[in-house]
Amino acid sequence: MIAQRARTFTESVIREMTRVAAQYDAINLAQGFPDFPMPAEMKMAAAAAIDADVNQYAITWGAKPLRDAIAAKYQSWYGMEVDPERELTVTCGATEAMAAVCLALLDPGDEVIVFEPFYENYGPDAILCGATPTFVPLERPDWHIDPDRLTAAFSGKTKAIVVNTPHNPSGRVHSRAELELIAKLCREHDVWAITDEIYEHIRYEGAHHVLATFPGMRERTVTISGLSKTFSCTGWRLGYAIAPPEQSAAIRKVHDFLTVGAPAPLQAAGAVGMGFNRAYYDEMNEGYRARRDVLCPALAKAGFKFTIPQGAYYVLADFSALSKDDDRTFARWMIEEVGVASVPGSSFYHQGSGEGKSLTRFAFCKRAETLEAAAVRLGKLGG
Ligand code: GLN
Repeated sequence: MIAQRARTFTESVIREMTRVAAQYDAINLAQGFPDFPMPAEMKMAAAAAIDADVNQYAITWGAKPLRDAIAAKYQSWYGMEVDPERELTVTCGATEAMAAVCLALLDPGDEVIVFEPFYENYGPDAILCGATPTFVPLERPDWHIDPDRLTAAFSGKTKAIVVNTPHNPSGRVHSRAELELIAKLCREHDVWAITDEIYEHIRYEGAHHVLATFPGMRERTVTISGLSKTFSCTGWRLGYAIAPPEQSAAIRKVHDFLTVGAPAPLQAAGAVGMGFNRAYYDEMNEGYRARRDVLCPALAKAGFKFTIPQGAYYVLADFSALSKDDDRTFARWMIEEVGVASVPGSSFYHQGSGEGKSLTRFAFCKRAETLEAAAVRLGKLGG
């Protein structure tokens, strides 16, 4: 016996692919987590915090040093004023932030606009709070927003739109004009923007614009981000949501009863990372550019078709020149026969859409050796 809501979505295909990759000893370019170390200074700060007995619950909505550091960073990077006492909630990863925000802001029957392809969590997040996702396709080949299709998606029932830039899985970085259109439609239709900005610092082209800083958006935007990608610590589960005080109070309540709080010693170390200077970010970004420039030529040579990502660390590649199989069969075959794991494209589209069947997603947040080894294996495909 299981509840109706748990029947309406499937297990995460991303995490399933990680398990299958391990079973066949394939190189895991499926789940997006780095296989290289996080900054030593943060590791030492975490160890020191544990040693100093920072081992009990932090304040539910986040340890003060981390909230203060996040607020200071938004001020200096984006000129955005954030009150760490009333507008910020630290969560167990951006994943929990997204779920807690949906549960705090959406009612059953509300419509939520989601761009497709989408990071697979957004569907279940909407379902868990009884909302209905409305899907708007990003247009190939560069995954841009079609203004007419977006405008047509807003209805009287639209309560929120989920905006993820840089985008997982496509690598799109939305332009200022695209975000201005979203902002205009949100203002006109009195709709909330829920932004997932977890890849804000991983970009090869274009700037990162924080939607909450657009005119009239601060009071209708929840900004979600986290430390996982920026500091290569996906297992620490540190994320946050920035929202106006009334909404933050609701998000904090939901977060409290879901998890009580994020790990206290890791929050202490997170505050250290949030204080890093710009040189850290430049170096991290250059590292990702180099990784992208190992994987992309190898994929192109093997016969995949794709748009080179502008941001984030994924390549969403069309394999129809290589195989007529569907995406799941192809991804399985790649794991078993080529020894490289990816995520079947249909997992980024809603069930029954029939889309993504000739797509697969590769993650390049890996060491040069890992990517070069993957390139050798992919080389088997080219001829
Ligand atoms: N965001 C990463 C991805 O898309 C990790 C997902 C996860 O397993 N939480 O692969």
